[in-house]
Amino acid sequence: IAVELEAMKGLKAETTDGTAIPLYLNTGLISDVMTLGLEESEGVGLHRTELLYITRDRFPGEDVQVESYRQLLSSFNPRPVILRTLDIGGDKPLPYFPFSESNPFLGWRGVRISLDHPEIFLTQIRAMIRADIGLNNLQIMLPMVSMVSEVDELQMLIQRAYDELIEEEYEVSMPPVGVMIEVPAAVYQIDEIARRVDFLSVGTNDLTQYLLAVDRNNPRVADIFDDMHPAVLRAISQIVEGAALYRRPVSVCGELAGNPLAAILLLGMGVDSLSMSAGSLLKIKWVIRSFSRARAKSLLQAALRMTDARQVRGLMEKALDDMG
Ligand code: PEP
Ligand code: MG
Repeated sequence: IAVELEAMKGLKAETTDGTAIPLYLNTGLISDVMTLGLEESEGVGLHRTELLYITRDRFPGEDVQVESYRQLLSSFNPRPVILRTLDIGGDKPLPYFPFSESNPFLGWRGVRISLDHPEIFLTQIRAMIRADIGLNNLQIMLPMVSMVSEVDELQMLIQRAYDELIEEEYEVSMPPVGVMIEVPAAVYQIDEIARRVDFLSVGTNDLTQYLLAVDRNNPRVADIFDDMHPAVLRAISQIVEGAALYRRPVSVCGELAGNPLAAILLLGMGVDSLSMSAGSLLKIKWVIRSFSRARAKSLLQAALRMTDARQVRGLMEKALDDMG
């Protein structure tokens, strides 16, 4: 297998019947290694910006952020890099911004904090847009959206940051803005969200947690947390259909995208791209090159009719076995 994966280097992620699925890299965690991904990916599909905030004793200033984002943007330039705005709260606390809640995953997190503290959000957006000057490969992504009004309000703030920079005579350009779909409410309002933004990306880690009502980090219920649950697959299909109404591209950037058993199903749904940690890139490239889009579609039809995740896994394990 290792030898076969080695042979995938430099090849395109394309099905046997010619559908290309660009593979992107997730970056930003301490465990993320970029060395392989830098060559093998078509860009960054999710950069988690939390680390820059977690590893210091106060909020990083605008210039510190500019430097960090610019480094990432230029190493991938001209390939696109999606910077996600700060997603603290939930399982990601900041030592110098303490607050305590009995239900942090249902509490103050992601864009909810951004809207209550626009100064933190505006500084980050200004830094992102400044970092992109002369490069033009920045895209901005908003986490944990659960209301359409949040999208409108955040876009107004982004516009404000941009206008200020123009006023200050920076030669900036307005980047594409997208939303993470990771809360069930956003799935049911996918049309309203899609028409407001440039792209969508499915965060299957949180989407699974909130759809199945199971804490993604609680070992006691770890066996119930299954992102191949048919309900999760149906939700993603619905996202793809809703996005298609407005011709918005859909990516998957949660762990599911790096799972070879699931990637084929995502392909069958018509997802436009996948984003994953570097360690999964060659494996996923290999499965995509082993299947046709038509076969992926028929496997998806079968999976969507199943009642539980175990059956879906069984189906996909067999399909991969048949492939050798
Ligand atoms: C997700 O929720 O699927 C995701 C990609 O974001 P994070 O894991 O950082 O919450
Ligand atoms: Mg998430």
